[in-house]
Amino acid sequence: MTEPLKYKTEFAEEIYALENGPYIKKCMQCGMCDVSCATRNEMDFSPRELFMLLRTGKREDFFKANTMWMCSTCLMCKVRCPRGIPLVDVMHDLKSHAIRLGYTDPPQASFYQAFWQEILGRGRVFEGGLMARYYLKRGWSEIRKGFEMRDLGMKMVMHSRIPIKPPKAIRGLKGMRAIIERAQELTQKEGR
Ligand code: SF4
Ligand code: SF4
Repeated sequence: MTEPLKYKTEFAEEIYALENGPYIKKCMQCGMCDVSCATRNEMDFSPRELFMLLRTGKREDFFKANTMWMCSTCLMCKVRCPRGIPLVDVMHDLKSHAIRLGYTDPPQASFYQAFWQEILGRGRVFEGGLMARYYLKRGWSEIRKGFEMRDLGMKMVMHSRIPIKPPKAIRGLKGMRAIIERAQELTQKEGR
């Protein structure tokens, strides 16, 4: 006879403490998110399965799964979930938590970090800067791949799809940074 599945709460409590974490408790495993998800076929586990990994305390499988990173934030699951779970917001929380804990192997993690640094730098994103930061984070093998796309990059520059020069910083950059720092302080204070 198969052993009944045992829930382990320690890891789950850590995730439930994130901003939208408590919503996960409401998941009734109906599978609506699985059948609605646009990128489900690219995911190691569906959102529903990810929540099951959480409940059974499979921490490493949970963070090493590409599920949160493959979420394209299309919102379909959020609209359809019968328990009203804001899965997109949950996925955002999981991604930041994973980065904080150092689970940064997926390329999307480097991309998010590079994007964020661009925003902090001038309040808007310069595509050239974003890609340079991304490739530097990913290391030599990815830099080589990026270099192989130079012809495409040049075409995009020539058709004005990518600017050559970085844009000017926004007005009120100092204020924007102060808001972000304050939000980060509050998040840390609340232990998220
Ligand atoms: S649709 Fe909602 S309740 Fe159903 S499995 Fe997905 S998250 Fe859980
Ligand atoms: S928001 Fe993310 S998890 Fe939800 S259906 Fe879209 S891609 Fe899938």
